[in-house]
Amino acid sequence: MAAMKELVKGTDRYRHFIGGQWVDSTIKEWIEVENPATEAVIASVPKGGEDDADRALVAARAAQPAWEALPPQARGQLLRDLARLMLENRERLARVVVAEQGKPLQEARGEIEGAALYLTYAAEEARRITGDIIPSDMPNEQVWIQRVAHGVVVALTAWNYPAALMCRKIGPALLAGNTVVVKSHEGTPLSALEIAQLSTQLDFPPGVINVVNGTGEGLGAALVRHPIPRLVTLTGSVRAGKAIFRSAADDLKLLRLELGGKAPFIVAEDADIGAAVRAAVLSRFENCGQICICNERMYVHRKIADEFTARFVDAVKALKVGDPMALVDVGPKFSKAEVEKVERMVAQAKQAGASVLTGGGRMQGEAFARGHWYEPTVLSVNDNQMAIMQDEVFGPVVPIMTVTDFDEGLRLANESHYGLSAYVFTKDMRRLMRLVRELKFGEIYVNRPGGDAVHAHHAGLRDSGIGGEDGKYGLEAYFQKKTMYINYA
Ligand code: NAD
Repeated sequence: MAAMKELVKGTDRYRHFIGGQWVDSTIKEWIEVENPATEAVIASVPKGGEDDADRALVAARAAQPAWEALPPQARGQLLRDLARLMLENRERLARVVVAEQGKPLQEARGEIEGAALYLTYAAEEARRITGDIIPSDMPNEQVWIQRVAHGVVVALTAWNYPAALMCRKIGPALLAGNTVVVKSHEGTPLSALEIAQLSTQLDFPPGVINVVNGTGEGLGAALVRHPIPRLVTLTGSVRAGKAIFRSAADDLKLLRLELGGKAPFIVAEDADIGAAVRAAVLSRFENCGQICICNERMYVHRKIADEFTARFVDAVKALKVGDPMALVDVGPKFSKAEVEKVERMVAQAKQAGASVLTGGGRMQGEAFARGHWYEPTVLSVNDNQMAIMQDEVFGPVVPIMTVTDFDEGLRLANESHYGLSAYVFTKDMRRLMRLVRELKFGEIYVNRPGGDAVHAHHAGLRDSGIGGEDGKYGLEAYFQKKTMYINYA
């Protein structure tokens, strides 16, 4: 079998992983993978197209019936084994994540552990794939409702967690008896390829896991258009989600769309200010602000606004920005385009009346001469309709707005076309009880920083998506139900 990669002009050139083999693309074009901290080209991957999509989907379809026929426990065991191999290779995989994505090494180690946990959690469900037996209205008859796989699943992932997002999808998809074709974001394709390589040490039947490389509009769109997959699961932008929704309509494909967010962070006058400051900093600046559930806009009660803001700005100023391989709090933005977007958004906010409390520009100095660096930035604003309060920044910038009371905070938080996560700091139980119905977000963190549990449910409302992942509801998405009427008269 061809190797996963070859050395071409001093850098690693990877192949696609299709049908258990490392194969070249039919298109002889390549995508360069860059290290966001240095702008050095660290590898290249094929720029796959229609033919590659077809080959991968055909391989996945061929493998699916036998895979689904295995006892779930056998599928679960392979997922456990893959998780074990990932943890044994944690350090190496974490360094791949840092090299292609730019998050600090200690966060990348956490990503690999989280990725492995998605697989082991899915494996634990192997003995709980249940159905229903219900009495019929007819004599001598039972009705059986069973869970069966969809068939082939296409999994498209974003660049902010290249290892974890892949495993979040393939864990439950494979456990349910589907086979998968994975396409990572073209800027961060290496983690998925390295995980596929680890799978070759195990007895996964060829074609159960396929990993292909290419752009979203090219290969990604070809995978979605293709008649073979029944389910497409995307983690990515609202733009891509809507394009996929349109394209999938022709064959009525099933979709799970996990899209962007614009999380409000509400701090009431009775909040524990120290805890709120710590949570607000972590929930904004982890992974350089590039998490869908990040704190994107803050509403602080006027009675505590001065104290909260002063302490928050001090904490932001203390963040250490630098080489993600060192012990730092914040690494680079992922790409040139991303840092330019953040720059544009801050300039526009300033023009619209925002004042800069700290940061507000690119990192200066020799250490930051190369790479995509932006200062941790806090803005003060007083208009909820400003673009910086409405559009996802997905970077190290957060606006703060003072509100007159809790109700105003709630109202402004809900004035958004996003609906993924939200944060609230208050000790008042009556207010907390109101959040269930009145705060229109799918994932609400109360008196704590963000971070979702593998056995909970991660789902956005409105433009943040349709579907949801993790836990029993996430797994459920990878099954369809079949009903049999069993007459034994
Ligand atoms: P993106 O939409 O550009 O890309 C996501 C994936 O979709 C990539 O693999 C890309 O190649 C592919 N793609 C893009 N256009 C496509 C098309 N027309 N057809 C098929 N595939 C296509 O998103 P991104 O820039 O990688 O990720 C950032 C976004 O992801 C942010 O908005 C962030 O909030 C969101 N995100 C959401 C979650 C969540 O769970 N809700 C988690 C992480 C990131």
